[in-house]
Amino acid sequence: MSQPFDNLIGGRWVRARSGRTVPNHNPANGEVLGEFPSSGPEDVDDAVQAALRAFDSWRLVPAPKRAEIVYRAGALLRERKAELARAMTREMGKVLAETGGDVQEGIDMAFYAAGEGRRMHGVTTPSEMRDKWAMSVRVPVGVVGVITPWNFPLAIPSWKILPALVAGNVVVFKPATDTPELAWHFARILEEAGLPPGVLNVVFGSGAEVGMPLVDHPGVAVISFTGSTDVGLGIAARAGALGKRVSLEMGGKNAVIVLEDADLGLATEAILWSAFGTAGQRCTACSRVLVHERVHDALLDRVTAGARALRLGDGLEPSTQIGPLINPGQVDRVHGYVELGIEEGAELVAGGGRATAGELARGSFYQPTVFTRVKADARIAIEEIFGPVLSVVKVADLAEAVQINNASRFGLSSSIFTRDVNRVFAAMRDLATGIVYVNHGTTGAEIHLPFGGMRGTGNGHREAGHTLLDPFTEWKSIYVDFSGRLQRAQIDNN
Ligand code: NAD
Repeated sequence: MSQPFDNLIGGRWVRARSGRTVPNHNPANGEVLGEFPSSGPEDVDDAVQAALRAFDSWRLVPAPKRAEIVYRAGALLRERKAELARAMTREMGKVLAETGGDVQEGIDMAFYAAGEGRRMHGVTTPSEMRDKWAMSVRVPVGVVGVITPWNFPLAIPSWKILPALVAGNVVVFKPATDTPELAWHFARILEEAGLPPGVLNVVFGSGAEVGMPLVDHPGVAVISFTGSTDVGLGIAARAGALGKRVSLEMGGKNAVIVLEDADLGLATEAILWSAFGTAGQRCTACSRVLVHERVHDALLDRVTAGARALRLGDGLEPSTQIGPLINPGQVDRVHGYVELGIEEGAELVAGGGRATAGELARGSFYQPTVFTRVKADARIAIEEIFGPVLSVVKVADLAEAVQINNASRFGLSSSIFTRDVNRVFAAMRDLATGIVYVNHGTTGAEIHLPFGGMRGTGNGHREAGHTLLDPFTEWKSIYVDFSGRLQRAQIDNN
């Protein structure tokens, strides 16, 4: 790597003012991949000031021209997809097919968001007065603070940063501490695509030293956050006190419902992919199966056999199906939940321990784990574990499954397997989650539909889809009076 890993501030790659750095590790084997700045509030301030300076001119660049830069970034992402996917697998562990999908989401979002440059529709409406024009237009908010997690290190930043830029905002980006390198590649690509200095700034560092100062900074108008619910709620409380807008995408505890008439082969395949892909570390991961009692045993046999057969290893190896967890701390957390599940009386039928055979001992691997006879209100069935741990809960019918699904603190994704069209439509209506899948697992969102969750997963915003500009724009209503005299609304025409 010719370029050192520095912060990007005002178009220059610079070290943290303190000069401090932290190593970035490959979770499959502990290898150090690079040293990244360990920044602080003073670096955040530099970045916000640079962004504010850039805003004056960037907001006046015509939206179709801003969008062309984003489009070029999409083309560069596509050109370098394989290389970026490999870097991502090295940095955070998921297998190459999945990291390729992550980069593809960034490509899709770049092309989709770029289209907004020539849409970004406002609304015109008749005035109640003669000789008066009335319309509403979207305007950028200013400096957008972007705080992201490590599990989709390119897709999630792209959902936030690209629409924000097309809308005419400037950005200060604080990526996750476990995936700084992908953020660095993404920023380099936007720079190469022609983004002017200061429009995107990147500050590497921890949540406490960079994330919270970004939330607190008076120059930052909006925070767009994706991460855990507890951190998100803390940010929202702080931002609320400061009167700032916050868009939150937080945790999940997503259920697959399997009814007695389901195609069990298809359901098993979907459950294994949703529960153990990215080693269970997706916000949309399936961590609960709510299965009709009549097919419980048959489904459990298939899921258990499938989980035991999954091949763990370095995600760069083509034969690997499941990579490592993100770090040793996450392995401890997952194992703590497994011990809790046993204490709670659930029956462990697959996995349940660290995976340490041979080369695996060098990394943060955990066995795909399945519990059955889990009570619907057990902690392993209601708390987000964020690892390869699946709880199977027996239900008597669809109504009970919907009730359990909707009782969750979280409301991101849900799924139902049945061949009964009436029950499909009842589930589509009644499942209280931001995303519902029918005869498909809980993962697989496409970027041109709104993405987000209800209850503890979000705060009412949706990213992507036709809602993609909402967190990053304000509405301005404009009245143009061309009568040449004073026309008083509500008074002169009534
Ligand atoms: P996390 O909440 O620990 O961290 C997310 C980001 O917030 C990181 O950049 C982190 O450095 C920063 N941060 C941490 N403490 C902070 C603070 N006090 N102030 C400001 N910033 C702070 O989450 P994670 O472990 O990186 O990611 C996993 C979580 O993300 C899971 O809960 C998962 O469900 C969630 N997630 C949600 C979605 C979604 O779209 N709903 C998508 C992916 C991940």
